[in-house]
Amino acid sequence: MPKIPKEKLEKYLHLHREFTGKFINLHPIQRGGILTEAARKAIVEFGDGYSTCDWCPPKTPRLDMIERPPIAQFMADLATFLGMDVARVVTRCREAKFIAFAMLGKPGDTVVVDSLAHYSTYTAAELAGLNVKEVPHGDYPEFKVGLNAYADKIEEVKKETGKLPAVVVLTHVDYLYGNLNDAAVVGKICKKYGVPFLLNAAYTAGVMPIDGKKLGADIIVSSGHKSWAASAPTGILAMKEDIAGDVLKRSKIVGDLSGRKFAAKEYALLGCTVMGAPLITLMASFPHVVERVEHWQEEVEKARYLVKLIERIEGTRQLGIKPKQHTLIHMESDGLHKVSETHKRRGFFLYDELRERNIVGIQAGLTKHFKLNTYGLSLNQVKTVAKAFEEIAKKYGLKVG
Ligand SMILES: *Cc1c(COP(=O)(O)O)cnc(C)c1O
Repeated sequence: MPKIPKEKLEKYLHLHREFTGKFINLHPIQRGGILTEAARKAIVEFGDGYSTCDWCPPKTPRLDMIERPPIAQFMADLATFLGMDVARVVTRCREAKFIAFAMLGKPGDTVVVDSLAHYSTYTAAELAGLNVKEVPHGDYPEFKVGLNAYADKIEEVKKETGKLPAVVVLTHVDYLYGNLNDAAVVGKICKKYGVPFLLNAAYTAGVMPIDGKKLGADIIVSSGHKSWAASAPTGILAMKEDIAGDVLKRSKIVGDLSGRKFAAKEYALLGCTVMGAPLITLMASFPHVVERVEHWQEEVEKARYLVKLIERIEGTRQLGIKPKQHTLIHMESDGLHKVSETHKRRGFFLYDELRERNIVGIQAGLTKHFKLNTYGLSLNQVKTVAKAFEEIAKKYGLKVG
């Protein structure tokens, strides 16, 4: 039998995560996924394997039909919370996109996407055999996506392929600049053309209030580990009733020898999805999430406040739409970049200096362009971050206005 040395195996017994406790973690993808106490407890309770499946109903054996723990109720509440009719929990936002693409398109069809879409929008389309048509974004420094151009791109697809796009995607807040897009504009255009509108709310649902009906969304996808205080992997796929019929089709396959059928299973979900602890963290954090979206404006204020303070550093500015409408911030700093050119640690000096002050999450090596997210930081923590930047700038002889 193949053998793995004991010393190697022992390593796995003492896994340790570095960036907890005393650290302020500014990484854009980390802020919205910090667990609530209820979720932390639930992980221990539901850590074992298929822990959600003890009471799977024998007649409709499917994750979303389970009533103990109240998964069925959760799916309904989740849909209501997003202003949609039907919701499912899948493994990731990208899986939700893939499922929608695969079920609404045929290989060779096109999806229209904004050109600041996450890479996983492209790979999801690729796996579903679809082509992408990009809606351009504007220039430096705002990089704003021109939403009215969605109509032109839909027309282009129609002209080039003889068919309307299978799905139209808008990234509600993009991962690069943290720009918030007015989804209702795209919702209206899609309605006019009768094409399904998928809103990618990976950075918005779970942190800010969203009403899918008002925005004209047919599908909302989101990421539990990014924005819903849940463990990975968790993704949200919420839909209007009519679209749900297409996306959540029941299995019809029949075993050619056995004649076996699986009529309760939704085949795009391969029957069941997140059947353990991560789903339970999403549920346990849900009451908190429902409450926290009400305080979104305060979160935005903190982001604006930090931008104002960091922009006082010589040659430093926020990119993307101003003032911030989201907590994901992209900074550009000629000043810090200038320091990196002569520092012996080069671009890593900024990471080193921040880390010395127990601040992490700004990508090591970056100075000219870097991203951070203030979501869920207290005002005092925001001040600590601002002070750290000011100290570092002054230490290296930059002016702080
Ligand atoms: C983070 C992000 C994703 C990926 O989410 P997963 O749940 O990890 O798949 C997708 N789209 C956007 C816009 C994101 O910001």
